[in-house]
Amino acid sequence: MAKDIEKITEELEQGVKDVFTSEQYAEYLAFVSKFYNYSANNCILIWMQKPDASLVAGFKAWQTKFKRNVKKGEKGIQILAPCPKKFTKKVTDEDGNETEKVINYTTFRTTYVFDISQTEGEDIPKFVNDLTGDVEQFDDLVKKLVELSPVPVNFEKFESPAKGYYDRAEGKIVVQPDMSELQTLKTLIHEISHAILHNDEDGEQKDADRHTKEVQAESVAYTVCAALGIDTSDYSFGYVASWSAGREVKELTASMDVIRNTAKDIIESLKAA
Ligand SMILES: [Zn+2]
Repeated sequence: MAKDIEKITEELEQGVKDVFTSEQYAEYLAFVSKFYNYSANNCILIWMQKPDASLVAGFKAWQTKFKRNVKKGEKGIQILAPCPKKFTKKVTDEDGNETEKVINYTTFRTTYVFDISQTEGEDIPKFVNDLTGDVEQFDDLVKKLVELSPVPVNFEKFESPAKGYYDRAEGKIVVQPDMSELQTLKTLIHEISHAILHNDEDGEQKDADRHTKEVQAESVAYTVCAALGIDTSDYSFGYVASWSAGREVKELTASMDVIRNTAKDIIESLKAA
């Protein structure tokens, strides 16, 4: 089993590098929008083994949660499952007294999941998340986005080719009015991502360099749009390869987790009634 983990970890590192150095980054993010409940590592592993996967679950979960069975002969998708562990350690304090300290740590084991296409049984209720483009839904999405934005959003004209901006000093977002619905949503999500991740107070990524911040905001916007079924094929990720060059796999995975977590929060707020 230890050998299994070693092999899968090696594959994982290669997969992470591949995502950033190929043309597949946008594709990968669209994939993540379906699997945002899984860690960045497991998103990559599922993607590498079954790029057309759309809904995965363990063998038993398919039976109990979805009343479906894995078809005979289907090969599982190997992922990593965290196993939280702890042990107690005797420590001696300054006064020479012996006390016990609990140390928590996590190990991983490999486990298997299966895609819906590898199963048969009862129909799955379709999740209502496709943006059909009607104005009512658009208005509703904009309203929800403005509500979840940590800073006020103003729709007002400004002199610039930019479609919107996040004003860190003033704590506000400004978006050009009269853009297409698609453009408005993309811009809004991009600027909200900046406001969440890069604000001066508790912005988790406030110290990242400018290039990194743009990759993060654009990636979150892309992922959320993909989850909403919005066609964002005109997104430009041409600079991602140059951004990732020379970075450690660990660093890239950490950034993938930031992007996925932020997208997850926004998607879940949008889905909430
Ligand atoms: Zn930006």
